[in-house]
Amino acid sequence: MMQQQINWGKCKPYLYIDDSIPAVVLGPNFLQFLLAYIAYAIYGFILLIVLFSRDLGIIRLSLSVVSYTSTLINYFLAAFMNQGVSNYKYNYYIQPIKYCEICNQKQQKYTEHCDTCGVCIEGYDHHCPWIGKCVGRHNKRYFYVFIFSLFVFQTSSILIFTKIL
Ligand SMILES: [Zn+2]
Ligand SMILES: [Zn+2]
Repeated sequence: MMQQQINWGKCKPYLYIDDSIPAVVLGPNFLQFLLAYIAYAIYGFILLIVLFSRDLGIIRLSLSVVSYTSTLINYFLAAFMNQGVSNYKYNYYIQPIKYCEICNQKQQKYTEHCDTCGVCIEGYDHHCPWIGKCVGRHNKRYFYVFIFSLFVFQTSSILIFTKIL
């Protein structure tokens, strides 16, 4: 019953862990995420094949494999896990400071309404079309681990190719 009272805007909730909290929320730009994810996975895989064709040794190859795997996992989690769609009904600890006219609910600190998603997002960071939705309270950690892993994967590849590493 409670599920129907919540505004999900253009987001789609899946896999409810209880009455009101879904584990998975897909965003309005899900197709763009899917295409970007597949393109990135293929690009990274080709890069790995090129690296493996050289005699680089176990440490440099492990660095590439681990950072590439980490980007794939965390990119996936950032796009699929509930980003923190605001739901006043289960935020009993809430200290509302604003009100969203569109969602018709109180907002706590750091909650912002995203026009693209059409919902209020807790711990709003930004709307990222490459993960298909917002970066918010619950998927922030995956997003930033993804960015860090991507930095390590790309930087180490460049350093290997230029023979600095
Ligand atoms: Zn709102
Ligand atoms: Zn958004």
